[in-house]
Amino acid sequence: MLQYHSQPRDNSRSKTATHLMCILWLLLLCSACKTSQCGECGNTDVLNDKEKEIIGTPAMDADNSEERIAILKGSDSPLTIDIVIWNIAAIDDPVIVRDDKLNQMLTNLNAAYAPLNIQFRLLDSRIYTDYFTFEDLAEDNYEKYYYNIIQHNTANTIDIYLVDHNKDLCFVTENARGCTKGKGFTSTGGWTSSIVIAKDDVTDMKVPIHEFGHFFNLEHTFKDYNASVDAANCEILGDSVCDTPADPGDGFGAMVNYTDCEMHGVYDINGQEYKPMINNYMAYFGACFMKPYEFTDGQISRMKTFIYSEKRYSYLKMQDEL
Ligand SMILES: [Zn+2]
Repeated sequence: MLQYHSQPRDNSRSKTATHLMCILWLLLLCSACKTSQCGECGNTDVLNDKEKEIIGTPAMDADNSEERIAILKGSDSPLTIDIVIWNIAAIDDPVIVRDDKLNQMLTNLNAAYAPLNIQFRLLDSRIYTDYFTFEDLAEDNYEKYYYNIIQHNTANTIDIYLVDHNKDLCFVTENARGCTKGKGFTSTGGWTSSIVIAKDDVTDMKVPIHEFGHFFNLEHTFKDYNASVDAANCEILGDSVCDTPADPGDGFGAMVNYTDCEMHGVYDINGQEYKPMINNYMAYFGACFMKPYEFTDGQISRMKTFIYSEKRYSYLKMQDEL
């Protein structure tokens, strides 16, 4: 079912696609970051503004959408959302993510999103021969992503673009050394139907699920991290989900005991100690040794509301429609 092939959309792409096919026959998946060091992903209002500019706001289908949504909500069996994978691959050094890794990602996604009564189906794995790295797509407020990629998205399907990184992400100076590496991006609660994930992170237990969380309208738990510990005004501060504890962000990661999965010694302006949910999919902390990643009930509820909204309900298919 997973086939490596290209889908040429014009003659020039067709030519390069043919070239790439030959090689493959022989050789046989961030935002202006909220922090100065972009830990995991990019997502920003810039994305939503741009997609609105480019795509516009589609009208609701003329069909009986309310009736359709009611039927979907009443489904006893899981609803299916289709995924198409696009490996963005360089002609001279093509990196294609193996099927077993893609299947591992699907297994992880299906486990994490089972509470939404949805499952994902991998329709196809393809090669995209207009080559861009993660950094290419993210620069200049995602200009290339918007002007070179999303026009090719598939209706009512999630297109996942898997990308390589530039090779110069690490630096060593006299006084400092380090690396800056994004892992994925999409728009939060937008119209765009695609997600970008670094090939390195396809099998990561968090990254793809985190990006899908944005896709289904979740914000980072540390958004507006001045949210006070006492959860006052939790509907509008932080991630706007009231059962996610206030999170000061991964800049305070040094204060986390990853065995207890607990932060110690960080206080808000009122002197109350922060106790963020370290193992939340939408936080930026590392993995806890003893606790798997989780969503809160409030996050699941927010996503459930969103998948039945005008932006996403047309992605949902019932068993007899597959
Ligand atoms: Zn994110």
